[in-house]
Amino acid sequence: MYRRTFLKIAMISSATVGSLLKSNFTFAKGIPSKVFGSIPKDKCYVAPAKGPIQTSLTDLFKVGPGPSSSHTIAPLRISSDFLKTVGNLPKDVIDKSQSIEVRLFGSLSATGKGHRTDRAILAGLLGQKPETCDTKLMDELQDTTKKYTTTIQGKTFEVSHDIIVWDKIEHNYPFSNTMIMRLIGKNGETLFEREYYSTGGGFFQWKGQPAPDRGKPAYPFGTMMEFKRMAQEHKKSLHEIMMENEKAIIKVGDKEVIAHLDSILKTMENSVIQGITEEGLLPGPFELYRKAKRIYERSRKARATDRLMQQMSSYALAGSEGNAAGRLSVTAPTLGSAGTMPALVYMMKHHMKLSQDAMRKGLLAAGLVGFLCKHNASVAGADVGCQGEIGVASSMAAAMISYATGASLDVTEIAATIALEHHLGMSCDPVGGFVLIPCIERNAFGAVKAYNAYLLARNEIPSQRWEDLDRVIVAMYETGLAMPTQFKETGTGGLAVTMVDC
Ligand code: SF4
Repeated sequence: MYRRTFLKIAMISSATVGSLLKSNFTFAKGIPSKVFGSIPKDKCYVAPAKGPIQTSLTDLFKVGPGPSSSHTIAPLRISSDFLKTVGNLPKDVIDKSQSIEVRLFGSLSATGKGHRTDRAILAGLLGQKPETCDTKLMDELQDTTKKYTTTIQGKTFEVSHDIIVWDKIEHNYPFSNTMIMRLIGKNGETLFEREYYSTGGGFFQWKGQPAPDRGKPAYPFGTMMEFKRMAQEHKKSLHEIMMENEKAIIKVGDKEVIAHLDSILKTMENSVIQGITEEGLLPGPFELYRKAKRIYERSRKARATDRLMQQMSSYALAGSEGNAAGRLSVTAPTLGSAGTMPALVYMMKHHMKLSQDAMRKGLLAAGLVGFLCKHNASVAGADVGCQGEIGVASSMAAAMISYATGASLDVTEIAATIALEHHLGMSCDPVGGFVLIPCIERNAFGAVKAYNAYLLARNEIPSQRWEDLDRVIVAMYETGLAMPTQFKETGTGGLAVTMVDC
């Protein structure tokens, strides 16, 4: 129905008719400057030119313990990487060493205690991995008085809260979430040091890191515009390009990619199934009760007009509450936003009864949006505020449900654009630095907005739409850069201040 309408309009349009019919895609265009007067040259939109995306879906969608991908999964992965790296140092260096030191800067220092960054760091040093970590041990690691040990090349090192230094919040490192890990000698000298950055969504990198040994994408793109050109030139669909690129980048076959997609969908679904049965207090310094179960149960008796939104909200709350409780969740794109996509996944499976194949295609569309946001902006609340977490999650979820239900690439892009556009400017102000208020409810809003974006996009005419995903992503990034530090996951502004009594 939609495609017929689109083609009809394309046929009666003037200058663009040829290209639209040839490509079947609409391409981004700016509003002509004569409408408002031109924008100063230094403020003009410039399409990002960062080269092709080489991120894998296994990087974007990671399973790990909550409550925050940048503050739990990445620090756990970082300390695990450090353990492995020092394990390969020359024996004489290890002989001279005595202890390990971890320094946290920026948002990691400001809100790391609330996010339980310390226990994640200790878990990594004790050999734990995010996707398989022992949640009982993780709980025990909260105890600041307990001391553990880890072994490096046969030598024993203390692993306890005493090795962590909560350093400066304001600093000059290139990423807010900076973590320096050191191997210290017997006289307090640094024998080995690595400067790590947690760059959002559980991703990390270190200073001077060589490019990873990965394959090149089969269909290189860095923006949505380039993606559409690839699709047009090679007559490929969104899911075909995403599948081919994934296989080429991480050098695996269809079977492995599908297994990963299925496990992500399953983990998301399980987070909802578990969350709508649990009640009681969430861990944290103030009393915050779970409410997903109550809202879900009451939805059965809700008015027909209220029911769907109530159910969707309860699913998002379920995923998010589980994450806040430290359960295994999926970065989508972060753990702070771990409830948004699962709500839509649950809707697609249990309400819409979509096939597994359609769900996988939807997840690939979500992956595309996540890649573009990560590549051309950021998905870290510490860099761009909550627009980069819940905003991007909502955008990914809107693309997912649209594409899974058969929308074209144009309509899928519009759904993602709408959802992101209407999160622009949203700050990150977790009360006390805990992923509780406002994070949990924000997931419900992210899910509802995603669904609304999907509904609006289905009825949109691509050739009549001005906003496109690339421009909205750049707007998000610029908005984030201009945001004062107190609104970027430092717990020092917004609700984090007004909610606390003097
Ligand atoms: S406010 Fe948003 S960005 Fe900040 S921690 Fe919460 S979910 Fe993440």
